[in-house]
Amino acid sequence: MRILVTGGAGFIGSHYVRQLLDGAYPDFADAEVIVLDKLTYAGNEANLKPVAENPRLKFVRGDICDRELVTSLLVGVDVVVHFAAESHVDRSITGSDAFVVTNVVGTNVLLQAALEAEVGKFVHVSTDEVYGSIESGSWPEDHLLEPNSPYSAAKAGSDLLARAYHRTHGLPVCITRCSNNYGPYQFPEKVLPLFITNLMDGRKVPLYGDGLNVRDWLHVSDHCQGIQLVAESGRAGEIYNIGGGTELTNKELTERLLAELDLDWSMVQPVVDRKGHDRRYSVDHRKIVQELGYEPKVDFETGLRDTVRWYRDNRDWWEPLKARSAATR
Ligand code: NAD
Repeated sequence: MRILVTGGAGFIGSHYVRQLLDGAYPDFADAEVIVLDKLTYAGNEANLKPVAENPRLKFVRGDICDRELVTSLLVGVDVVVHFAAESHVDRSITGSDAFVVTNVVGTNVLLQAALEAEVGKFVHVSTDEVYGSIESGSWPEDHLLEPNSPYSAAKAGSDLLARAYHRTHGLPVCITRCSNNYGPYQFPEKVLPLFITNLMDGRKVPLYGDGLNVRDWLHVSDHCQGIQLVAESGRAGEIYNIGGGTELTNKELTERLLAELDLDWSMVQPVVDRKGHDRRYSVDHRKIVQELGYEPKVDFETGLRDTVRWYRDNRDWWEPLKARSAATR
């Protein structure tokens, strides 16, 4: 079996690849894994260091928009797991071009090439943010898409293209829509690693607006477990929400982190709210539980403690990235 993983040098994609090559998914135990990653500011080959010597891994630095490259890599590929994206909402607010190019055009290139290569399964990794914002209750998979940021709008564009390639051409596409991930190797511009690393350096953390925006926090390993279930057994043409973490306001998230680090609220700097900031995300993930036996395993307290410990132990990994992040904005 051969698998193409796009964006496999990013936060979630690299977790998936490390798991895959470490034998965490027995049905794919012998799979050859091709990682296609452009290595944007967010991509980092060091994320694959633990599996870099594995003979089943082939790393290709390249762009999902490069039709010729993508077509050549898809020869003999059975499964595509598509993570590659511009993924940071704040960056999409200051400039959305790259989001449309990679997330929409790049996904279209991949879908067309996958169709021509007759791949057996195409897992499109989407996000809960495509639904918009919800005051109460949770979105089922057939809910209207009302994305509010340029990031989520571009992700919704790719999500709908993936759906259309199934409806129009019969490409065996599955779409996953997951809630907020956390865990090791997350680029330190995202809220949790930004806050953790700031606090480790004795710096304050910037809390948007009233701090009452709600997110569902899911450990990256639970997300990857859900993706793998969909890759193995998801029905073609179906959408699967992945959630079941812990719903917290940003204020509660900050309080839990401060407690973990034995710090207090004096380390918090309230800042002007993000433009168009979605108030709450919440997915109804009963479908993947009932159909595929998905069950999140990492409780938030343990996951947060382990994540803090990982950033404490891996300063060499994140320090240069913080500098790179500042330089690319
Ligand atoms: P990330 O920014 O850490 O990684 C993205 C990866 O894609 C990077 O390695 C980058 O180099 C690569 N990439 C970007 N443009 C590319 C291009 N044109 N060609 C090839 N590679 C390219 O993102 P992440 O947090 O790991 O998210 C992965 C996927 O999961 C994204 O599609 C995102 O929308 C989705 N998702 C993320 C979350 C979350 O909480 N992080 C939640 C739900 C869904």
